[in-house]
Amino acid sequence: MRETKSTCPYCGVGCGVVIEHDGAQITGVRGDPDHPANFGRLCTKGTNLHRTATPVVLQGQRLRQPLLRAGRGQAPQAVGWDEANAHLVRELLRIRAAHGPEAIGFYISGQLLTEDYCAFNKLARAVLKTPHIDSNSRLCMSSAVTGYKQSLGADAPPCSYTDVEQADCVLVTGANPAWAHPVLFRRLEAARAAKLARGAGHKLIVVDPRRTETAELADLHLAIQPGTDVALMHGLLHACIWQGWMDAAHIEAHTEGFAALKDLVREWTPARAAKTCGVPEADLWRAAEWFATSPRSLSLYCQGLNQSSSGTAKNTALINLHLATGQIGKAGAGPFSLTGQPNAMGGRESGGMATLLPGHRDPTNPEHRAEVAALWGLGADEALPGPGHTAVALFEAAARGEIKALWIACTNPAQSLPDQALVRAALERCEFVVLQEAFAGTATAAFADLQLPAATWGEKEGTVTNSERRISRVRAAVPPPALARPDWQVVREVALALEAELRPGRPSVFATDSPEALWNEHRDSTRGRDLDISGLSYALLDAQGPQQWPFVDGPRERLYEDGRYPTPSGRARFVASPVRPTAERASAAFPFQLTTTRLRDQWHGMSRSGAVPGLFAHEGGPVLRLHPQDAERRRLVNGELLRLRTARGATVLPLQTDARVGLGQADLPMHWGAEFLAGDGINALTHGARCPDSQQPELKFAALDVASAALP
Ligand code: SF4
Repeated sequence: MRETKSTCPYCGVGCGVVIEHDGAQITGVRGDPDHPANFGRLCTKGTNLHRTATPVVLQGQRLRQPLLRAGRGQAPQAVGWDEANAHLVRELLRIRAAHGPEAIGFYISGQLLTEDYCAFNKLARAVLKTPHIDSNSRLCMSSAVTGYKQSLGADAPPCSYTDVEQADCVLVTGANPAWAHPVLFRRLEAARAAKLARGAGHKLIVVDPRRTETAELADLHLAIQPGTDVALMHGLLHACIWQGWMDAAHIEAHTEGFAALKDLVREWTPARAAKTCGVPEADLWRAAEWFATSPRSLSLYCQGLNQSSSGTAKNTALINLHLATGQIGKAGAGPFSLTGQPNAMGGRESGGMATLLPGHRDPTNPEHRAEVAALWGLGADEALPGPGHTAVALFEAAARGEIKALWIACTNPAQSLPDQALVRAALERCEFVVLQEAFAGTATAAFADLQLPAATWGEKEGTVTNSERRISRVRAAVPPPALARPDWQVVREVALALEAELRPGRPSVFATDSPEALWNEHRDSTRGRDLDISGLSYALLDAQGPQQWPFVDGPRERLYEDGRYPTPSGRARFVASPVRPTAERASAAFPFQLTTTRLRDQWHGMSRSGAVPGLFAHEGGPVLRLHPQDAERRRLVNGELLRLRTARGATVLPLQTDARVGLGQADLPMHWGAEFLAGDGINALTHGARCPDSQQPELKFAALDVASAALP
């Protein structure tokens, strides 16, 4: 029996795992006691990882060879890599010649490794010259990115997991880490219990419309009305200003823009904010006092802030509170966004997104484009394209017929993107859809003209970066099944063939022929940037374990301790954002406020977690949760089948009454697509309205109608 250290492929906590195997088959997994994210702990999903490994999972659940269909409506046929690649190259060249490079789009994933991101980015921008490459991280973290950049000057979470343990007050807002980031939550629970046991005091404030498992532990639960987060933050800041719970020295020395924000929040008295949010005013005052006057206050936040048409404003309003009270740049304090996916952060670092370039560069900046072109070894006449379509906009462009070819990797947009009617129409309208996947038979596979089998967790080499900026190695323990290949390798072979046609006689940008070589190129792109990792190497990661960036001479546990921020003035910025309503609002026709949420033991579209029967023991299937009074008023009973309807789609699900859901609200787990349900999938109900700054869609709010399915 052998052991290989790697990283869990699920959430952004980024736990280290030890894979037990015999070189051919993965037989077990346990937490890595040396990994600083988890010190040996794993949650239920992590503990069951070996049960998702081939050949433990049914053979039919892995995509094992390239599949090509001769035409729409025809069954895909197994082909070899040579035929698959030749067809792919031919189609991309045909579409590019007929419609231009901008007719080609890439939709990739925060579950790819950083090395895979680097390969896709070069293929799209340097070889095909299309600007349209975006990632499903757009659905998860893009508002955190724009929030950090607007307020602090860089997309860099300033905190570490050790801050969770050192904080005296933790504000969890728009997150349910007890279920979505379980190992980090265990660290918070343990630290809180230890502090309380020795009489040191600890405050936990949870802001969430639902009484979640995280809220159950809280000293104070602010059950705000969905979408009212900015009003709450402005009200908290107003209370701090009124009471003098401020850090005037920090504001004076290290920030700018406070006067404009003060003018804005003057209107947001605690009374008005509390009324808007639907919480007791006294609770708002209490939260403000605890947060501002505790020696060290930390906030943890995730999709509840990010997946919103006001996503960036929610992030900056929270950061305002930290800046005004001096709760930043010291141990146990700071605004700490939790990443959803295992490598959402790596995608941001390597710039594999429509609004980013490698090393946190900006595609709207011609100098940054020229720097990246030079780093990639492009000729002086080979300019890189500017910014491209973001995730939902990419599919909207495809639905309009502007995107003709879509290359989708390691994600399942026919289930996970909002407004499924539009997404499926877009996939139908594309002339050519390529799906690069490890798992067979996802909803998107039904639309794919060509399917390419990818290696997955336990079968490939590379790196990921977790929520606390820590880069961990991902290692292969066993070979991929049948003809499956690592993603970077699939991309490189197609890119080399395309270069022969599109860049004949020029030095290849794909001379890099290993994950380590791709990562070294990525490392070099960060030199002198805020995320500089020029002091790191695979060898150092292998010898000394996972490391946090920036890393020049050594790791940085915490950012902004010197009070200097990476803005032109060196000061952090207060951002004065007005309170805006959600894109949709409950109405007589659609009276319920729908929020999509996550289950403890499932992951995204369940391609991996759905392969483990034991992970359905916690929650066996999707149900719509309503408050018992709402059910009673409509004469609906527990277990009854309901027809759920929004302005875009409908589905049928059983009712479960639950007093933890707010009155007038509806809670629905996001994991199920149309293929699993009698009606449409969950995301047939959601919509693609987006934050204007981050372009992140508002997956956390839709107006819903609910009726008994027995009614005609
Ligand atoms: Fe994996 Fe996240 Fe669970 Fe850790 S907390 S074992 S990273 S799913």
